[in-house]
Amino acid sequence: MNVFHKKSDLNKAVNTFKSAYQTLGLVPTMGALHSGHLALIKKALSENNLVVVSIFVNPTQFDNTSDLQKYPRTLESDVAMLKTLPEGEIMVYAPSVEDIYGDNVNSSNFSFDGLEDNMEGEFRTGHFDGVGTVVKRLFEIVKPDNAYFGEKDFQQLMIIKKLVEKHNIPVNIIGCPIHRETDGLAMSSRNARLEPEYRKAAPFIYKTLKSAKTKFGTNSDVKVIEWVKSKFAKHPLLKLEYFTIADEESLQPINRKSKSKSYRAFIAVYAGEIRLIDNIALN
Ligand code: AMP
Repeated sequence: MNVFHKKSDLNKAVNTFKSAYQTLGLVPTMGALHSGHLALIKKALSENNLVVVSIFVNPTQFDNTSDLQKYPRTLESDVAMLKTLPEGEIMVYAPSVEDIYGDNVNSSNFSFDGLEDNMEGEFRTGHFDGVGTVVKRLFEIVKPDNAYFGEKDFQQLMIIKKLVEKHNIPVNIIGCPIHRETDGLAMSSRNARLEPEYRKAAPFIYKTLKSAKTKFGTNSDVKVIEWVKSKFAKHPLLKLEYFTIADEESLQPINRKSKSKSYRAFIAVYAGEIRLIDNIALN
């Protein structure tokens, strides 16, 4: 398996490959790979002749410098994990910050027609401008036919769909379901940084989301939101940042429940210093 650190080298390899017209899939990641990432990569392998896995901790999408500094960087073990995958051609693109940004490590400004207004967009200033910048650049460098994103970051998935629509980028965006630990905690590279007591407490997040889903069947959205807030207010370790029920298409917070719409609940929680997010389809 080839690991490229420079876009010029990756380009040469990809162009040779594409000249024989083959389909190319891209799975953008920040590394510290886990089986949630591997599920995306396996799906990409099953649908493309070549898969580029990018591993890049993108500085412009972090609003918290300590989170950026402490983000796990484990390229060697990531590559070892990719080598365990069965059949299929994978190339790894693990660029330096300079290879992506040159000497201008800044985001462009994007409008995603309101998809960015709430949840992660509200609580992480500039986050989606950073995501939009790096993903657009990766699309320009790799020129994939298909690109794979997890529903774990559902708002991000919707924003990437909007990005390609607004900028006429010829790539299919494919969403993949959330992978969870056996106790229900959504897999995340940040889970490895949880202190044992917080790791033990963290499955409470998904358990509460599942109960909220059941309650949403028979209760008003206001009641469900109050109930979730009260559960976290009583929790000794987990601190709720937001719990939002939003229209699955527009990502605008619900104001009156409509039978014709699909809703999703979104949550962000601090487990000590570590910020965890999750979401669930409600109907
Ligand atoms: P990250 O490395 O956290 O930026 O994630 C890279 C890609 O993997 C994103 O599209 C994520 O949504 C996806 N991903 C991360 N964790 C999971 C998970 N537990 N289940 C499904 N997809 C995931």
